[in-house]
Amino acid sequence: MTDRKDELAANLAKVEERIAAACAAAGRGREEVTLIVVTKTYPASDVRILSELGVRHVAENKDQDAAPKAAECSDLPLTWHFVGQLQTNKVRSVVGYADLVQSVDRSKLVTALSKEAVKAGREVGCLIQVALDAGSSERGERGGVAPGGIEELAGLVARAPGLRLDGLMTVAPLTGEYAGREQAAFERLMDLSTDLRRAHPAANMVSAGMSADLEQAVAAGATHVRVGTAVLGVRPRLG
Ligand SMILES: *Cc1c(COP(=O)(O)O)cnc(C)c1O
Repeated sequence: MTDRKDELAANLAKVEERIAAACAAAGRGREEVTLIVVTKTYPASDVRILSELGVRHVAENKDQDAAPKAAECSDLPLTWHFVGQLQTNKVRSVVGYADLVQSVDRSKLVTALSKEAVKAGREVGCLIQVALDAGSSERGERGGVAPGGIEELAGLVARAPGLRLDGLMTVAPLTGEYAGREQAAFERLMDLSTDLRRAHPAANMVSAGMSADLEQAVAAGATHVRVGTAVLGVRPRLG
């Protein structure tokens, strides 16, 4: 194995151990939690190595980085998640490679995603990104809709041609009542997921937890964790 492959294999093994331990501590089966490796800022060659090491889900947050990387890796058996704030003028490109968009947070975006998905003949899975630091009707600073806006947006996605409502996503807030209380934030997301599933039973994905707080997310009931740094290393720049 190459040095980089050794390094990624060792990091993946550590993350796998953490997820397994968190599942065991929560009395959950390991198969209830899916690892998504966030490959943003890292090259396509790393994505290829991760695929060889058995990773099946990768995530990106900037279209200009993600589009060429996904094209280079189109032969790999990967599911691509888009997790960044998304401008409507990037939607056509993102729909070309993303299987899921986890950052759906406004109606304009739903309309644009639906239009491009239909045009491309693709079905795009959508997660509503929830901002737990936003006021009752605002959007979060790092994207996301306030909890009060979930129901309306979910209804729009569920009715939109070319889109599939898959669940909810959040990033632990740095400000507001949940700052520094990751597990409480993720438990709140779980409650919102329970509400959502009353009207949309199939929308059962709960995407929460990153390198620093995946244990709290698994404890709260997350079905998907998004891990970057702990697998690939500290990013050279903010991404
Ligand atoms: C970068 C990013 C992650 C991964 O963060 P790490 O701390 O590197 O694990 C997860 N989710 C989103 C939305 C991200 O932008």
